[in-house]
Amino acid sequence: MVSAVPDLGALVATDLRRAQALIAGARRIVVLTGAGMSAESGIPTFRQARAALWADFDPMQLASPEGFRADPPRVWSWYAWRREKVAGALPHAGYFALAAAAQCFEQMVLITQNVDGLHERAGSRNVIELHGNILRTTCFAQCGVRIDDPGALPPGVPPRCPRCGSHLRPDVVWFGEMLDAARRANDLPRTLKLERELIDLARDRFELISHLEHVDLERLREDRNRCAHPSLISDEVKFSASAELARTHIRAAVTHLLQQAPAQGKFALERLTREVSSEYFPTSVEEAAETLSVGPLRRPRESLVSNFIIVLFKWVVGDDLGYKAHARIMSALEATHQLHPQIFAGVLRDKVNVIVRKVEDENLLRVLRVVFRIQEVWEHLASDVQNRLENYVSHLPDLYHLDEALDFPPLAKQARVRLRLASVKELNDCLFFSLHELIAEKFIDHYLAAKNYAEATKRRS
Ligand SMILES: [Zn+2]
Repeated sequence: MVSAVPDLGALVATDLRRAQALIAGARRIVVLTGAGMSAESGIPTFRQARAALWADFDPMQLASPEGFRADPPRVWSWYAWRREKVAGALPHAGYFALAAAAQCFEQMVLITQNVDGLHERAGSRNVIELHGNILRTTCFAQCGVRIDDPGALPPGVPPRCPRCGSHLRPDVVWFGEMLDAARRANDLPRTLKLERELIDLARDRFELISHLEHVDLERLREDRNRCAHPSLISDEVKFSASAELARTHIRAAVTHLLQQAPAQGKFALERLTREVSSEYFPTSVEEAAETLSVGPLRRPRESLVSNFIIVLFKWVVGDDLGYKAHARIMSALEATHQLHPQIFAGVLRDKVNVIVRKVEDENLLRVLRVVFRIQEVWEHLASDVQNRLENYVSHLPDLYHLDEALDFPPLAKQARVRLRLASVKELNDCLFFSLHELIAEKFIDHYLAAKNYAEATKRRS
């Protein structure tokens, strides 16, 4: 049997090129490193190390608080052995490259799952060590003692804490300790700062939530603080939230967060355009307004609405749309005009001329069709753009939209010019749902001027 073997070399080269392009354009990057990085410096991974000498023990016995309590010397020896491996290893070129790369970006955050401290040894600063650091030692009873230099450890297997007499342990994250990791891997003030800023960041930088959702989340956070931190109601009376209150809070918070997808920014714009692209998006303006006002456009940021309008506008004047797609996009555009007239006017003022100037001559009818439906567009067109459309109307390639032009005061004069040039054939070719008065008169003129049927159908005035 022959199976297709992917050309790994080519795949890697493609990935590298993509990575290169992404990194070249970045200002802030996050680097996450794991066991592979250490392994290339000759430090056995947790699994390899265990396979070598410690195969008889399961990971829980070597790397959990329970394992340590059950047999402190065994766990301490296991880490002492790994510390030796680390001490004998040197950072390889990759570590130095990352340390140097930090200079190339506005901000670079280095997060590592490794506990060997090689990033620091290669010169990286502010490394976030998710799983702690094997060279540091701390007190098992958490009295606050921490010893950074392995050479400064008191004797003993394991040594005793110089402050409280409990056992010392490696300052790494063990199984079942992930929650403490955040606290230990980095300082508490930073963790709290992130938490304080999180909701603002979601609103301002990432546009994930709207102002109203921001208010909701602020209130949830206040509730949380009230449930989580006992405080004094008066000088003597201590307020402590009941378990039931805390549970109610947690439930409300989870329900609130899960009930909606992020409603703003790029994600929301993609969602809106996807909705309009669907075969099932309504073609009546009223229904479109209804559909749009229950989605992200219900309480949008201004930027979302204007970006949406721009996307729709470019779509409708730039693309060769089928009849149905055109109807959907026009209804979305008109509905957005109804829902957010002021933002719509702003977009027309700032963007519409730039967009229309890029439309090719043969596609100007697409612009006209928007103007006929949303007449406000006309007032925002610059005079050169208006002139171009006027000329276009007096030379319309056929008469299909002439009746609308006749009824649109700014273009009625040019429409009459075009009508004067219309042949009977053109008039006949064009099926009007309802015959415009001026077009009907033109028909009559033709027939009155003709001596017989053959001449009337040929004649062009
Ligand atoms: Zn202690």
